[in-house]
Amino acid sequence: MMSNNIEAVGGAEAVAGCTGNHPVLEILDDLVRINSVNPYYEEGAPGESDVACYVEERMRRAGIPVRRQQVFAGRWNVVAELSVGKPERALLFESHMDTVPAGSMENAFEPQIRDGRLYGRGACDTKATLAGMIWAIEYWAARRDSLPRDLVLCAAVDEEAAFRGVLRFLEEDREHRLAGAVVGEPTELRVVSATKGCARFAVETRGKAAHSSMPEEGDNAIYRMLAVLSYIRDREAPRLEGLSHPLCGRASISVGTIESGGQINIVPERCEIQVDRRILPGEQPDVVREQFKQALGAELPSDTVFEVRELLSDWALDTDPQAAIVREALQVAGKLGLATEAVGVPYGTDASKLQQLGGIPSIVFGPGSIAQAHSKHEWVDLEEVIQAATFYATLAGVQSAE
Ligand SMILES: [Zn+2]
Repeated sequence: MMSNNIEAVGGAEAVAGCTGNHPVLEILDDLVRINSVNPYYEEGAPGESDVACYVEERMRRAGIPVRRQQVFAGRWNVVAELSVGKPERALLFESHMDTVPAGSMENAFEPQIRDGRLYGRGACDTKATLAGMIWAIEYWAARRDSLPRDLVLCAAVDEEAAFRGVLRFLEEDREHRLAGAVVGEPTELRVVSATKGCARFAVETRGKAAHSSMPEEGDNAIYRMLAVLSYIRDREAPRLEGLSHPLCGRASISVGTIESGGQINIVPERCEIQVDRRILPGEQPDVVREQFKQALGAELPSDTVFEVRELLSDWALDTDPQAAIVREALQVAGKLGLATEAVGVPYGTDASKLQQLGGIPSIVFGPGSIAQAHSKHEWVDLEEVIQAATFYATLAGVQSAE
């Protein structure tokens, strides 16, 4: 049995009903003021470097060794390690530093506080979790003699685009053999142990170009695509509705883009769609894509020329409910008066990579809701931010069951 004497740290008792002046709120305010829009979405966007410098500076001031992992030119992960000679239960806090663009959000980088909420781009996705993790590691840096395990903070780049940051972390840090990881994303303070993954791919049909005055001379790739679309809508989508996971819900497929033709008077020789297939724990993206291709090939007229090309693959997360990280997290949640059942979410996070490539049992936990993430009115509840910070610090301080 895990220790029953979990003590909430950082004055969690004072949290209920009182947002006060917890230091995590200042960190959050600082972070939202720093524009870290991922340049993948907006040419000329600054990326994560200013947030990275901010995290580095705080870690240095707290006396925590910190290093950079270059991922792209001018974009690097920040890895801080609070080592107290107890690596066997080393715990990783991972949070991404990038955000999606401001879009139509007003004052996106000037945080506004109204009704106990902080508004701004990245407020809930995921600067609130990053702030909480920074606060938790600083809290323990000041009390390192009583810290029962090593702590690692990875503030990663590029989660919003192609997860390059966490992949880079795993390339370099596999020797850590981290005992568990908490990935920060808005989960409404629920312990998430399962998430969907995705298999995104393009399907291209090929025909033969001809002048549109003699279409019979050509082979219209758009018409060829009709059979593909019908197959997805009428066969594959209904089939997937029958495929579900107890924590994550249903698998799904969606056609997001279609592109073809250059000119009205030419029969198009190629047509391409982009498909987003959300996969469940137990499914593998490569296998799913290959099976789709086989099944599609069997449905299409035999003279159809088509190709299926991988765009982005991500595993589902399916952490063993009996893993120490899950049990400890649920105990801490109980101590703080939060939900004590692990849940699943339909979106992907860096956690699946930590589990799949690093073999690190991982959960996702953070304040705020995915419903507000990326939105015009992104906000996070300040009380939840304090609770999350308390959760991270308390989890770090959980003593071993042995
Ligand atoms: Zn996020």
